[in-house]
Amino acid sequence: MHHFAYRGGELYAEDVPVSTLVAAYGTPLYVYSAATLRRHFTAFDSAFGGLPHLTCFSVKANSNLSVLKTLAAMGAGVDIVSGGELYRALAAGVAPEKIVYSGVGKRAAEIEQALTAGILMFNVESLGELERISAIAKRLGKTAQVSLRINPDVDPKTHPYISTGLKKNKFGLDIENSLAAYAKAMELPNITPVGIDCHIGSQLTSISPFLEALDKILTFREKLCAMGIVPRYLDLGGGLGIQYDEEDPPHPKEFGEALTKALGDLPMTLILEPGRVIVGNAGILVTEVVYTKKTPSKDFVIVDAAMNDLIRPSLYDSFHAIREVRPAGRETLNVDVVGPICESGDFLARDRDLPAVAPGELLAVYSAGAYGFTMSSNYNSRPRAAEVLVDGETVTVARRRETYEDLIALER
Ligand SMILES: *Cc1c(COP(=O)(O)O)cnc(C)c1O
Repeated sequence: MHHFAYRGGELYAEDVPVSTLVAAYGTPLYVYSAATLRRHFTAFDSAFGGLPHLTCFSVKANSNLSVLKTLAAMGAGVDIVSGGELYRALAAGVAPEKIVYSGVGKRAAEIEQALTAGILMFNVESLGELERISAIAKRLGKTAQVSLRINPDVDPKTHPYISTGLKKNKFGLDIENSLAAYAKAMELPNITPVGIDCHIGSQLTSISPFLEALDKILTFREKLCAMGIVPRYLDLGGGLGIQYDEEDPPHPKEFGEALTKALGDLPMTLILEPGRVIVGNAGILVTEVVYTKKTPSKDFVIVDAAMNDLIRPSLYDSFHAIREVRPAGRETLNVDVVGPICESGDFLARDRDLPAVAPGELLAVYSAGAYGFTMSSNYNSRPRAAEVLVDGETVTVARRRETYEDLIALER
């Protein structure tokens, strides 16, 4: 459920007509709905109400300060994967003791930054990282709480680029050698292993891979307890999918019930790292039709948003619903919706039935709130889109549109 709906023949973001936003801020324009963010966060977080838990929003899905502030105000923690994301989270007012830090390539300066900020824990992905955190914590006179990220070798049945829990993936420690890694963590100075972590992939549309991973993790936990290491935290990562097209992902409530049942009354705090499920359907990308073009083999709708604004279709061949901002009840045509970038991979939709739109009209690309703006770039020297956050009738410019001056500001 989201708060982008038609009223009187035109698309609204909550109580504001999308065309009004475009008149003020131009296109391409990312529009987020605060009510949707809050609704999704509450639906997810309350699904785990029966367990001690911490919901840590995955910042890489959408790292805009206004989005982070909205979630932080609801008590959300965050999962970060870089020093830059830590900086943003702290700037948005996220409590350091609600920050977990994942990622395979944490650099020394980032580790120091996180220890100084006093984050809850590091999700450690290699022995080298473990040693490095220990050394830095020792130098700073601090103790680092860590979970080791276990790769449970579970197939999440999603796009290969967003599968992370298979043996062949670069993430985590293989489950066979992880006991030794915990033993090492016990020996190293200034490190306390406090939990177990895993994250098997993104856009999962079924609960069973999560349960399969949890089962392996719980077996692993028993061995760990037998070694005298009793984890207080169990981090199951993110990955719950959303509906882009025909998918039918489980509702967070169903997900929460299944995990609550599987965990029984184990004395652990569950950590969850949802990204997409919170913010994916809380955002649209609004774009203007620049030209329509007929070729002998295809009809094209050329719009002013491109792969630099939303790379998901090009990168993952992913589907985003596209609808008119002002539906006019015309016949449909089968078209490719493409951007102005000089790449054949620059498309937002291919072979899509769309009403026969004309130049100057506005289209809304749905489900663009997650991995949309955060994956955007300046390719073809295109200034990045503006982002606005709508809350009822209130509009916040969450990020102003980049200018040509911004494009060259760091160059000489
Ligand atoms: C990307 C990521 C997430 C969030 O994944 P979603 O599919 O957006 O929920 C959570 N944890 C880690 C470690 C990640 O890399």
